[in-house]
Amino acid sequence: MPASSAVTVLGLGPMGRALAGAFLAAGLRTTVWNRTPGKDGELLGRGAVGARSAAEAVAASELVVVCVVNYDAADAVLRQDAVTGALKGRTVVNLTADTPARARDTATWAAAHGIRYLDGAIMTPATTIGTPDAVFLHSGPEDLYRGHRPVLDVLGGTHTHLGEDVGRAAAYDVALLDIFWTAMSGYAHALAVARAEGITARELAPFAQGIGTILPPLFEELAGDVDDGTYSGELNPITSAVSSMAHIVEASESHGIDAGVMRAAEGQARRVIGLGHGTDGFMRVAELLGRRSQAG
Ligand code: NDP
Repeated sequence: MPASSAVTVLGLGPMGRALAGAFLAAGLRTTVWNRTPGKDGELLGRGAVGARSAAEAVAASELVVVCVVNYDAADAVLRQDAVTGALKGRTVVNLTADTPARARDTATWAAAHGIRYLDGAIMTPATTIGTPDAVFLHSGPEDLYRGHRPVLDVLGGTHTHLGEDVGRAAAYDVALLDIFWTAMSGYAHALAVARAEGITARELAPFAQGIGTILPPLFEELAGDVDDGTYSGELNPITSAVSSMAHIVEASESHGIDAGVMRAAEGQARRVIGLGHGTDGFMRVAELLGRRSQAG
């Protein structure tokens, strides 16, 4: 990595600070800016250059990394005339999370203003940045990605370019966070029900980890069901799954605890059974949810 390499980071929340910290640790000249002043103290102490405005920050480097809360925020920063003008001919790597449509819209805007654009998603917590555990997904022009890969590599972990469709990283991001947040919601609900039964969160946690370890091999196995349309329920038909879900709803509501999320899941499984697929496996739900033309 040449010591003269320069990068600008716009957005100094926990993730933006971690990204800037990793660039600094690698010896890059790192210029930082945040909407609300005062978030750059530690980074300035480590040698970062603090910009007085987003336009000044952008002008300092050929590569501009954006990491703010969402694309409304990113637009609010990037689409100011002074910033857009300063970005002309430079590269934006937008590591802000949002939807595939917003990523594609931003790429269209960037192209119209002579700005090179890559979209990305970070799939691991801020604490992983600069370590082998970090996971980055990227999409957009491959030659642009290859050109900036040496700088991105200093962020640590694994970097995967998912293709030229600039919305693809965000598409993976929303799919993967769908898993994460429904699992987190399930865990929060489980802890509430367990507590109502006199079980502490710490008592349940080791067993929760056990349930968690069942999932990774299932992800792989059930992906085949969905891609091949097989949905085998020989070992665990959806009629059995729905019975288990009904127990959770009953136990939860007996304690006055909202079981809305589990009720929704149970409802989807019952629809599958109602459509005559009761001997299929649980992933028939994915096929049902995908019947967009019927739902609409
Ligand atoms: P937040 O998601 O809390 O975002 C905070 C940042 O967004 C701050 O810099 C804040 O500026 C800025 N911001 C919010 N609204 C605006 C606005 N209207 N105009 C300008 N800036 C604005 O912080 P994180 O750093 O945690 O996350 C940044 C991105 O990284 C998010 O998209 C998040 O989903 C993603 N991410 C974060 C992870 C983490 O572990 N933190 C893990 C994986 C992804 P201000 O200080 O002025 O409010």
